[in-house]
Amino acid sequence: MSGTPLRITVWNEFIHERENETVRAIYPDGIHGAIAAGLQTQLGSAAVVRSATMDQPEHGLTDEVLAATDVLTWWGHAAHKLVDDRIVERVQLRVLEGMGLLVLHSAHASKIFKRLLGTTCMLRWREAGEKERLWITDPSHPIVDGIAGEYIELPQTEMYGEFFDIPQPESLLMISWFEGGEVFRSACTFRRGKGKIFYFRPGHETFPIYYDANVQRILANAARWAAPSGAAYHGKARNVTEPLEPIASGHVADASLHVKKG
Ligand code: ZN
Repeated sequence: MSGTPLRITVWNEFIHERENETVRAIYPDGIHGAIAAGLQTQLGSAAVVRSATMDQPEHGLTDEVLAATDVLTWWGHAAHKLVDDRIVERVQLRVLEGMGLLVLHSAHASKIFKRLLGTTCMLRWREAGEKERLWITDPSHPIVDGIAGEYIELPQTEMYGEFFDIPQPESLLMISWFEGGEVFRSACTFRRGKGKIFYFRPGHETFPIYYDANVQRILANAARWAAPSGAAYHGKARNVTEPLEPIASGHVADASLHVKKG
């Protein structure tokens, strides 16, 4: 690893921990607090972790914060519609430029995830406190590095079941089995522009999911995986009037055809 710490911002709508006694008892410091603490414990001095919440100005996701973020994690459940479209667009552009994005549980329905993926991202669900086994289907992938068994097990979760309306993932790392009978693609990667996106299912906020050691390990691995890397990003139109080599055709462009309307 390089000597530069990974800059992680943990975003949370931060509503149910303040409004619901059950959720507050499990996550007294907010879900973002538990996720941030888990990441910091796992990654140590290799990461600098900060939090941002929806109630802050610009949802805590100013240009300055995003410019200083290598990987953003996203938790939302009750208030997807209250997220400002301008902030969603800002996050989308940063992902295209290379910022990693970890999308957690009910954030499958967030504006940012749906915008980046282009489908409804909807699914079957049931909150019955049932057992979940997440079977590893891609054991060579760095996001499951260090997971000892063939699966991880969570004693009580909310069920998410197929069909999950997402585009075909780049990699499918885990498939969940639920006590009630459903299955689900629970750990999926995508790429958009230069950015790497990881969706991770376990939840929800009435269960102590983000204190689980395997969940924390996977999120830390995912943050490392999603860190910006590779070549420069060129996502904007570039009119290159001077060719790299001479062109024989003598064609003269009709500039009027390139004038945009509206
Ligand atoms: Zn949920």
